[in-house]
Amino acid sequence: MTLELSPEEFRKLGYRAIDALAEQLAAFSQPESPARRPVPDDVRQRIFNQVLPEEGQSPEALLERVFTDVLPYPMGNNSPRFFAWVNSPAAPLSILAELLAAGVNPSVAGGDHAATYVEHAVLNWLKTIMRFPASGGGILTSGGSVANLIGLAVMRHVKITEVRRLGMAAESQEVVIYTSAQGHSCIQKAVELLGFGSESLRHIPVDADFRMDMNALREQIKLDRAQNKRPICVVASAGTVNTGAIDPLDEIAALCREENLWFHIDGAYGAVGILSDQANMLYSGIEQADSLALDPHKWLYVPVECGCALVRDAQAMRDAFSLLPPYLRDDRALPWFAEFGIQQTRGFKALKLWLVMQQIGVDGYRKSISRDIELARALRERIRNRADFMLVSDGPLSITCFRYTPPHVPEEKLDDLNRQLLALVQQEGHVFITGTILNERQVIRACIVNFRTQESDLDFLLEVLAEAGQRLLSENV
Ligand SMILES: *Cc1c(COP(=O)(O)O)cnc(C)c1O
Repeated sequence: MTLELSPEEFRKLGYRAIDALAEQLAAFSQPESPARRPVPDDVRQRIFNQVLPEEGQSPEALLERVFTDVLPYPMGNNSPRFFAWVNSPAAPLSILAELLAAGVNPSVAGGDHAATYVEHAVLNWLKTIMRFPASGGGILTSGGSVANLIGLAVMRHVKITEVRRLGMAAESQEVVIYTSAQGHSCIQKAVELLGFGSESLRHIPVDADFRMDMNALREQIKLDRAQNKRPICVVASAGTVNTGAIDPLDEIAALCREENLWFHIDGAYGAVGILSDQANMLYSGIEQADSLALDPHKWLYVPVECGCALVRDAQAMRDAFSLLPPYLRDDRALPWFAEFGIQQTRGFKALKLWLVMQQIGVDGYRKSISRDIELARALRERIRNRADFMLVSDGPLSITCFRYTPPHVPEEKLDDLNRQLLALVQQEGHVFITGTILNERQVIRACIVNFRTQESDLDFLLEVLAEAGQRLLSENV
């Protein structure tokens, strides 16, 4: 057994793999195709309990296993009827890009090879879209969590003198970082990982639209200063994961300037909403952010994984991570990405973005993102017009929270009913949708970041939910 494949074998297996994916693609246009199929018990057992073979196996047989045991049981996000979390389908061209990137197999730590320049090009495009200067720093990451971690690591380096040498011992005061009560959990993870400790993170209350309450933020900063604590940073959300709320970025920017705080934006889901016709005015202030996290593997429709961190001051970003002595830095026309982040060896994530961004263009993204928001509005309209559902949140982007509220079911039973409904519908797989807790109530949450979703899929979603809900009610009487 050898790892090498002859060019003929490689070609043959490659075509088989592409054929299998093309078949899945074709299925998405059929209205009856389920969003996902539950993994059957025997398949799960087969995968779990598989012993690593002592002897090698034929590549053909192994690919066959993938076709029978893996491909048929996806998470479901390539389907037009997937509404869960924030997961988009992969643009087909970007799937080919993943294959090609693996084929070239560079480490994009830096250096003079094409992949490095492709990443720089993509970062420049993203900076332009996000109203960051061309001189700003940036890096592609595994996702939004790491992009937020990188932004906050640069903040820590700028705000706490000598932190790289001394760690948090370099700071004599208790520091404070602010985010909203709707801020993503990865912010707390980053705060903990960076050694601040979770007690230094304040979750500021939100207003009726789930946006950070500016008065509460001002009061909290004042209080912290009065107690001799040191505020250093505000993390604003440009699209919360629960409702898509966008914090008042321009007011936060002004406050950060006044108070000398670092202004970081978590735009993992919503930053690219800046391209939408409906919400672009809500992003005023983003041009003043010190750092920004976004997630191309969400609303830019490239396959997982691909996040991005942008930092206005590229020098600060480099100083936060680089271990290269200054005399070596000057020799490099283009500094290495390894000096701007956590990883040394880095994958060629840029190729998929480079292809899809050119395939669709800025205008294509503008239209596609605006259409997703339009679909969310159409879903809300349908919910408003029905007696058995109630709209709970209608944020500025493409997330809608609602409840199943059939007549004659008392309020105190609705949390349980909605939880059971979600579980049942997820199990059956015709659509895939998840929920969240909002104002202490269980809600159903539909997120549309999907270039395949049509209006008919919205009708189907509500039909599936209402039908399953009726079944639950008749079983429970
Ligand atoms: C998805 C998301 C994150 C985390 O990003 P990952 O890519 O999952 O690591 C952070 N914040 C928001 C608002 C998100 O939607």
